[in-house]
Amino acid sequence: MPPYKKRIKSNELKALCSLNARMELSSKDKQRYAYLEKGYEGELFFDRLTSKLQNDLYILDDLCLEHNNSVFQIDTLIISQHTIYPYEVKNYEGDYRYESGSFYPKLSNDEIKNPLDQLKRSKALLRPLLKNLGFQLPIEGYVTFVNPCFTLYQAPLGEPIIHPTQLNALMKKLNEIPSKLMNRHKMLADQLISMHQTKSPYTRFPSYTFNQLEKGLICAKCLSLISFIEDQRRIVCKSCGYEETVDSAVLRSVEELVLLFPDIKITTNEVFEWCNVIESKKQICRILKQNYTMKGFGKWTYYE
Ligand SMILES: [Zn+2]
Repeated sequence: MPPYKKRIKSNELKALCSLNARMELSSKDKQRYAYLEKGYEGELFFDRLTSKLQNDLYILDDLCLEHNNSVFQIDTLIISQHTIYPYEVKNYEGDYRYESGSFYPKLSNDEIKNPLDQLKRSKALLRPLLKNLGFQLPIEGYVTFVNPCFTLYQAPLGEPIIHPTQLNALMKKLNEIPSKLMNRHKMLADQLISMHQTKSPYTRFPSYTFNQLEKGLICAKCLSLISFIEDQRRIVCKSCGYEETVDSAVLRSVEELVLLFPDIKITTNEVFEWCNVIESKKQICRILKQNYTMKGFGKWTYYE
């Protein structure tokens, strides 16, 4: 069953992908990029499991909600007839230990952010939010570790944790819970989606300028920068061989430009310089005309 709300890459992750190909990120930004990328891969892994569920459920991938001025994120929310299941998905890899209510890498005393606390906070904010929407269903949340190479030593028995070896059992359980969704569940799912915030306040962008960034198209598959093309209709990535039409690659680049420079006016010249490898401005102009709304006139023309 496809999710009722699909997951997309966060703007921060998209921006870091793009910047990583176009400039030298600081080591702190590189770490942040790797952390977000790894988290996203873990979430996609969990999505692949939940997408196979056959039961009558609403699956909402990635919700960013606000209650009483507090923003909270839920990686996956599953609505069944009688219960709401928020999942905090973690893609930690390697050996960790649980000690006096805290998480540490197995051989280190550098405490990591406690995912159980994150879950507790989400539940504490979700409960009154659901109540405001007229729902008082029980909430059963879990921290879900999805990486098969993750081990938690001294894992507490009484805490809501799903270990990688329990994922199959979890899917089986979700498939078998008695659930028949009604219109009010749909209303709840729709309301939660309408409340989803696309701009998370936790987003941090590195600093950069237009001139500083390397220009070119980024391969949709391997994310490497393409700074030369042979064919002006199809783009073939030299690193991975992925093929894409020029139109689609240019449109992705325009989206990138808008994300990285939200105040920029999209003009043929700007996109021409940004994409770098397209020989004719006419082609850029045609692609923009076909896909965006033209504003202004003559040399002041821009697109929205
Ligand atoms: Zn590639």
